[in-house]
Amino acid sequence: ALRILGRPLPLGNGCNGVLITIRDETLLKRIDAVRKDFIANASHELKTPLAAIRAYAETLQMGALDDREAAEKFVASIISQADRIDGLVKGMLQLTRVESNSALKMEAFDAAEALEPCLTAARAMSLSKSIQLELQLPEHPLIIQSDRDGFQTIASNLLSNAVRYTPEGGKVQISLTETPQHCVLSVIDNGIGIREADLERIFERFYRAEKGRSSDTGGTGLGLSIVKHLINALGGSVTATSQLQSGSCFEVRLPLPTRRQTS
Ligand code: ADP
Repeated sequence: ALRILGRPLPLGNGCNGVLITIRDETLLKRIDAVRKDFIANASHELKTPLAAIRAYAETLQMGALDDREAAEKFVASIISQADRIDGLVKGMLQLTRVESNSALKMEAFDAAEALEPCLTAARAMSLSKSIQLELQLPEHPLIIQSDRDGFQTIASNLLSNAVRYTPEGGKVQISLTETPQHCVLSVIDNGIGIREADLERIFERFYRAEKGRSSDTGGTGLGLSIVKHLINALGGSVTATSQLQSGSCFEVRLPLPTRRQTS
């Protein structure tokens, strides 16, 4: 719905004009609904670990403190729930920052070199689960025009998901290739996979598929929405394909710098 507001505007030279303001009310309403939705989801997600912390603390207060073994277990649970809140808050702050697009700094850099710290972190994560990482990197620099931090956030989130949602002994394949116009980062795992009905929703904020929720992966449901926002802001695209119990494939395309015309 468009709201058109008109008011008389004296122009000062004896003539009168009319100032017309046109406002897209539908868009404003949608932004407001998205904001309310975000607050409702965030409150809901924070309530669960807070309630657990309170319950553990009350149990300690009511006598569990005297049983050292039980007390240690409750304290460990309190710390892990506090970590969950920390993860949620950090994720929400990052999503808000990404959504405002304010921090993007476009520059030309080598995607393979920028990927290196993300691979180091993924190697460390995969070691504890005996997951094999298979790499296919370009032999020459693959220069992209993008935001380095954004690119690294995209890669880190996809890599950490692939490792977290792949059981012990599995495999994650990472490749960086190029087409005439794009740099293509693909992350393929042979993990738990995603149901078709979930696949349509995994890029939504706070959305977690049934299997991901029930397994203890410590996720927040924010990683992929951050990925999606960044990719859109960087002018790229992402696709996800998956089969339950077989694995998932995430493919990101980011634009290469436009080549200067030579005369
Ligand atoms: P989370 O922090 O829960 O991992 P994400 O936004 O990164 O949040 O992912 C959303 C959901 O998508 C996850 O909860 C999980 O159900 C599903 N998912 C994401 N990546 C994978 C993957 N590689 N394999 C299986 N499921 C995945």
